[in-house]
Amino acid sequence: MNVNIKTLIEEFPILKKLMNYEEILWINDKKQPTHVILEQTAITEDMVTDAEQRLDRFAPCLEEIFPETRLTNGIIESPIKPTPRLGEYLDTHWNTNIKNTLYLKCDNDLPISGSIKARGGIYEVLKYAEDVALKNNKLKRTDNYKILATPEFRKLFGKYSIAVGSTGNLGLSIGIIGAALGFQTTVHMSQDARQWKKDMLREKGVTVIEYENDYSVAVAKGRKQAEGEPNTHFVDDENSIDLFLGYAVVARRIKKQLLEANIVVDDNHPLFVYLPCGVGGGPGGVAYGLKQVYGDLVHCFFAEPTHAPCMILGMVTNLHNQISVQDIGIDNKTAADGLAVGRASSFVGKTLKPLLSGSYTLSDERIYRYLANVYDLEGIQLEPSALAGLDGPRRILTTYEGQNYLKREGLDHIPAEHFTHLVWATGGKMVPKDIFKEYYKLGK
Ligand SMILES: *Cc1c(COP(=O)(O)O)cnc(C)c1O
Repeated sequence: MNVNIKTLIEEFPILKKLMNYEEILWINDKKQPTHVILEQTAITEDMVTDAEQRLDRFAPCLEEIFPETRLTNGIIESPIKPTPRLGEYLDTHWNTNIKNTLYLKCDNDLPISGSIKARGGIYEVLKYAEDVALKNNKLKRTDNYKILATPEFRKLFGKYSIAVGSTGNLGLSIGIIGAALGFQTTVHMSQDARQWKKDMLREKGVTVIEYENDYSVAVAKGRKQAEGEPNTHFVDDENSIDLFLGYAVVARRIKKQLLEANIVVDDNHPLFVYLPCGVGGGPGGVAYGLKQVYGDLVHCFFAEPTHAPCMILGMVTNLHNQISVQDIGIDNKTAADGLAVGRASSFVGKTLKPLLSGSYTLSDERIYRYLANVYDLEGIQLEPSALAGLDGPRRILTTYEGQNYLKREGLDHIPAEHFTHLVWATGGKMVPKDIFKEYYKLGK
């Protein structure tokens, strides 16, 4: 699309700051009351319930194939951890009071692939496997899905292919589960993808195709190649509703986790959630699920690198996937490889625009510093992308825009200790030790 940048900047002055790689907090003044939006949207609670039940059906199969999931009975879920030492440290730097209200959602610890992609990505492959098995009359929904881990099904799935385009982690998730079930799996990797991820996939028998271009190109090439191929399923990170639903399921589990931890969410105890955003499917699905569960009591913010703010750009201008960060001269080069996306999903942008509280950008330098802080203070190993959410509380509590948001929402008189800040730590467990050490050194 031929966008006139000058006119856009006049209409949306915040773009000027984005173009200068400034760290910004954008508050979404188009956010609507949650129930009004959820009543009219195409993605219903029943659809999320269906996804939740499918994951339950597959639990015995996952326990069979991935023994590490036995601890959670075949359910791929991560803990919510209080991080008081980290909170205290941040309090001294920011002059805030979050030490008792700061939590990490530890998707870095998710079984099978150690990132948020173990939610949507694995869910979509399981759904495809179920479809194939049902279509071939080899499975009934009432069967014990353990049978899907047997050689008979491996042979069946071997006649089918799965393809995906990725900056790394989605490819890793799809590759691991796809290969484990027996599918012929191809991953189209963008230039940002780390070498160890490609090596790991090839070891598992996955075909890895590398591109000298960014994420959008890898996805487009993958999609094109899969088109017209018989018995091939393309996992479309930019448009897939199944991916989105796989991510959304977590919200119901969070409700249980918070209840068990005696963390209250009500009119006097708002829940703030900070989600690192790449193309948008992961954070979008999670935020959407949370809005279904908590309505106006939850406030969701996305976090993006200053060098790859595609979702803010798409939402602010309402152009969604019709504009890329490169169109306004931003280079899409960031150490946060999981967030190195220049063009956002229009499906996610449009779906989330009336629900999202806002979005902010942060520098790679800050990301690296947080990476070292989290390791030093809490002993948790995160990858760069997974730190983006950690700047959220500071933005809301100490900036002019953040204060205005609290006023607008009628939250400015609520005591600090009544807020819950949930920072989504989106990945890290799979990062090899020596590579983590390099990240850590940079952070120091
Ligand atoms: C993919 C990813 C994200 C962002 O998810 P999107 O669906 O691309 O928006 C965040 N953190 C990590 C570690 C990721 O791998």
